[in-house]
Amino acid sequence: MASSSLSSLSAILQKPHRAIAIQRRCCCLTPKLFSSKTVRAAYPHRHWSQRQLKGSSFALNLCRSFSQSHLPSTAKSEGPGLHHFVAQASLSALQTQPDHCSILSSVVAANEVVTEETETPAKGRIYHETYGCQMNISDMEVVLSVMKNAGYRETVDNPEAAEIIFINTCAIRDNAEQKVWQRLNYFWFLKRQWKRNVAQGRAQSIHPPKVVVLGCMAERLKEKILDSDKMVDVVCGPDAYRDLPRLLQEVDYGQKGINTLLSLEETYADISPVRIMKNSVTAFVSVMRGCNNMCSFCIVPFTRGRERSRPVESIVKEVGELWEEGVKEVTLLGQNVNSYNDESGVEQEVEAGSNWKYSEGFSSMCKIKNVGLRFSDLLDRLSTEFPEMRFRYTSPHPKDFPDDLLHVMRNRHNVCNFIHLPAQSGSSRMIERMRRGYTREAYLELVEKIRRTIPDVGISSDFICGFCGETEEDHKETLSLVSTVGYDMAFMFAYSMREKTHAHRNYADDVPEEVKQRRLTELIETFRESTGQCYDSQIGSVQLVLVEGPNKRAPETELMGKSDRGHRVSFVTVPVPNRTAEGAADQQQQRNPVVGDYVEVRILRSSRASLYGEALAITKLSLFYCNTVENEGVACAV
Ligand code: SF4
Repeated sequence: MASSSLSSLSAILQKPHRAIAIQRRCCCLTPKLFSSKTVRAAYPHRHWSQRQLKGSSFALNLCRSFSQSHLPSTAKSEGPGLHHFVAQASLSALQTQPDHCSILSSVVAANEVVTEETETPAKGRIYHETYGCQMNISDMEVVLSVMKNAGYRETVDNPEAAEIIFINTCAIRDNAEQKVWQRLNYFWFLKRQWKRNVAQGRAQSIHPPKVVVLGCMAERLKEKILDSDKMVDVVCGPDAYRDLPRLLQEVDYGQKGINTLLSLEETYADISPVRIMKNSVTAFVSVMRGCNNMCSFCIVPFTRGRERSRPVESIVKEVGELWEEGVKEVTLLGQNVNSYNDESGVEQEVEAGSNWKYSEGFSSMCKIKNVGLRFSDLLDRLSTEFPEMRFRYTSPHPKDFPDDLLHVMRNRHNVCNFIHLPAQSGSSRMIERMRRGYTREAYLELVEKIRRTIPDVGISSDFICGFCGETEEDHKETLSLVSTVGYDMAFMFAYSMREKTHAHRNYADDVPEEVKQRRLTELIETFRESTGQCYDSQIGSVQLVLVEGPNKRAPETELMGKSDRGHRVSFVTVPVPNRTAEGAADQQQQRNPVVGDYVEVRILRSSRASLYGEALAITKLSLFYCNTVENEGVACAV
């Protein structure tokens, strides 16, 4: 046992990027500081002031005192403890690299970041990892902005070189949390073995890293993450990111920092996010936060709080800045994005028009207030003000599709014809147990209406397999819904019960795990069949593709981008003409398409998961829809 542990340990130490679980033998660290010489040797290219070197010592006050914003625990029994997770994380799992598909955003190369000496001295280098949804990526950009303004200007691309490690977490399913615990184990190793790691050249930080847990898991587990094992120094919930510099200071004084207060107002509207993907032609802009819906399976209302929306003006300003930076496509983000409601500047109730109606046959436990601007108003404003910028949005709730929103989507060439319409189940009985506020029939009628209103629209969805009480009959109804609708894309999961939710309090998680997995497999197979047909139907059509980068399978010769409908399209890079304002192809002006170009691509083949075509011309959004698509009878309103 011991020898196997040792050999595993030595294997891991040779590969320090890998995770490791180390059993604590004692509860206190030896109070030894590194000399200035050691620190200089470890990090020779930097200019060190005496003050910085003094600050390189690490705090050894092990008393457990939280910051002023610490909330007392009211539910000690909620949530598993740290040891539960550590014990569950098997060594084999720990020895694998984190799943990079799920690390949605990782790191910014150090040389891309502002490193010039400024009045504010460098306070420590930041490494960050983000798990979960796009909202978390967007939040990490807010965090980097808060930190930059507080003088933390450097980021690095590996945790071994960082003095501050941020891990932005997801709590939606148990395995999302398990991944985070695996990474925390490795960061704990970097902290605890810092002296040895530096001596052996494995780490380059000037003091043991401060580990900061952000996001939904921080909100869900609160102080439970600040376990006596000292894995984590700061826990900060999604509405408290402005407080991060102060929380990190608390650590300098030997304390732990925690702020998991949820806010009714915080939208970070005044913060200009630091873009993680600096050269990308696509960007996310968060427009609202939180969710009021309380679906019975969902933890989001407890980790992200109530709905609140940014003022339209602040969003227009941010999109304008992105346009100036060369961004060509913006995805508007929100937990319940089409429930957007900007109440700023409007105090009176407005007349309850169709803009304020729920989709037909849909209901909600929340009352509509009839105050301010709605999501269709926001899309209308953005699409008019930035006619050459493409807009997408996620994640909507099917209840919030009033006619006005569908009409804006149909009439604006720069709002993509793509709708995410999370069904969760095809059985009305399960949908009711999930407290989603619709029936299978109402959902199908909405799909029909969307397709009637917006020709050639793409539709995607979310599904949960094995929710509490789901029978084989319910499951078959979900399979039949997938076949009937014919989705372009779907996110499918086996149900994972989360504490605090309505389902946790009221239902039994009674579908065995193997049944959930079997149903998930069947659902994926059914989905593949119907989505394959959807991709095949694009063969022969001409699609407008925004070039995002080289095709990874043939980076020297092919480019890749997305069509309006969200399909991945690749094509061979060859010189093509520019489309003129009159719609003619200017053969004198031929060039190879580059990243950021809109390219007309004729679809030649489908792999049933992506498309392949030939580039015809480089064009503009407005030109394409007025010249090419108009001829095919699609509305064009520039
Ligand atoms: S709409 Fe339902 S599933 Fe979506 S975030 Fe809100 S509570 Fe969760």
